[in-house]
Amino acid sequence: MDRINIVNIPFVKTTLDDMAKTLVLHAQRQEKAFVVTANPEIVMKADQDPKYKEAVLTADYITADGIGIVKGAQLLGENLPERVAGFDLFMRLLATANEMEQSVYFLGASDDVLQKTLAVVETEFPNIRIAGSHHGFFDWEDSQIPDEIKREKPDYVFVALGLPRQEQWIASHIDQFDHGVFMGIGGSFDVLAGEVKRAPAFWQKLNLEWFYRLAMQPSRVKRMGALPQFGLRVLRERMKR
Ligand code: UDP
Repeated sequence: MDRINIVNIPFVKTTLDDMAKTLVLHAQRQEKAFVVTANPEIVMKADQDPKYKEAVLTADYITADGIGIVKGAQLLGENLPERVAGFDLFMRLLATANEMEQSVYFLGASDDVLQKTLAVVETEFPNIRIAGSHHGFFDWEDSQIPDEIKREKPDYVFVALGLPRQEQWIASHIDQFDHGVFMGIGGSFDVLAGEVKRAPAFWQKLNLEWFYRLAMQPSRVKRMGALPQFGLRVLRERMKR
């Protein structure tokens, strides 16, 4: 896959469809893959924290999660076909895992949200084999979770610990596993469990999902600071080029 650099992060030039197909192939061939769906917050965190950046750069695929990244690419004279959001990719992969009766491990969120997520998966994707699950508030020194993944060898491991934890967790554990598609998916369990609503399609089409989320959860305003920072960083890069 072609890649382009935005603020020193190599984004894959891909569509949601193609990315999903590529990952399904990896799962079918029992290969290992690490996916980061990076939004401006992830890019800015990587820019400011070398350790985190190192973890992100070990990913096999970094996709543009958010219209901010797609617009940033345009400003740099590059073209990213579309936004490839973590939640959308997660839903695609669950749907194929269901069709192919593959196994999935669910890691992250509060225990309550996790249990609700598993209940939704059991009803909406009944052919998925749930290889195991664990809530996201655990001791990293405890090897119970990696041991379970090693034993069960799931086709997919979805890690919903938010940034920077999910990328750090995957990067620091993936070497222990033989295969599987590993992906950080932020608050996706909260959305699937019905605890947090995604913006209606209309808002998404207008590229205003970020605004919808801010309106629904005003406490996110601090985190939104990453967006203008990212914009300025891209402008600086453009001037350098
Ligand atoms: N979370 C977790 N462990 C932690 C911190 C957070 O499992 O130590 C979960 C949290 O419960 C939520 C998700 O990680 O389900 C992060 O959600 P957030 O809205 O921050 O993610 P976003 O989609 O905005 O990246």
